[in-house]
Parts: sequence; structure tokens; C-alpha cells
Amino acid sequence: MPRKKSEQFYKEHGFLPRCINGKYSAICKGCDKELFNTALSRLLMHKQNCDKKNFDVRTVPKSGSLAALKADKVRAQIRQFQSKTQFLKTETDNLKLERTLALLKIQKLRLEIDSLRAYS
Ligand SMILES: [Zn+2]
Repeated sequence: MPRKKSEQFYKEHGFLPRCINGKYSAICKGCDKELFNTALSRLLMHKQNCDKKNFDVRTVPKSGSLAALKADKVRAQIRQFQSKTQFLKTETDNLKLERTLALLKIQKLRLEIDSLRAYS
């Protein structure tokens, strides 16, 4: 295997090449394990098993499954949208109220003008 190609492979799949006393090994960045069989197919196999293990540990807590987590996330998003909708509704109500108040003020001013005209 040309050296260049395995370097690329190591980078892509999260391995660190190591050479001690002319003996090559690879460190897996996922689990920090040193692998002495550096055949690329062998490393790839480790990588697949390692990913599966890390994936399980990282994404599935004791409390729930991955699906439950996703559902929680979606639920949180829905809540976010609901509060946003509520906020906008309140804003709209406030604007309607302001509009009504402004109209009342106009009406009051018109009446004042009318009464001023009547006195002049
Ligand atoms: Zn590993």
C-alpha cells in the first residue's frame, strides 16, 4: 500500500499513524486504542465497530431511545413555535387595541373641534 494513500485513509477515518522502532501501528481517535494490524480493511472494520459503540454511548441515554429523543426535540420545536404564535397574537391584539384607542382619540378631537367651532 503506498504510504500517501494510507495517510489519506488515516485522516479520513480518524486514525493517527504511529511508528515505533520501525513498527507501524495506528491509534484510533474514537477509542484511543492502538491497533497493530494496520491493514486498511482491518482498520476499517475496527472503525465500524468503534463507531457503533460510541454512537450507542453518546446518543442513547438511560432514560430513552433515539426515537424518544427525536420526539422530544420535535416537541420542543412545537412549543417554541406555539409561544412565538402566542407572542404574535398578543402583538396583534395590542395593535388592534392601539388602533381602537387612536380612533377614539380622533373622535374625541373631532368633537372638541366641533364644540370650538360652535363657540366661535
Ligand atoms: Zn476505536
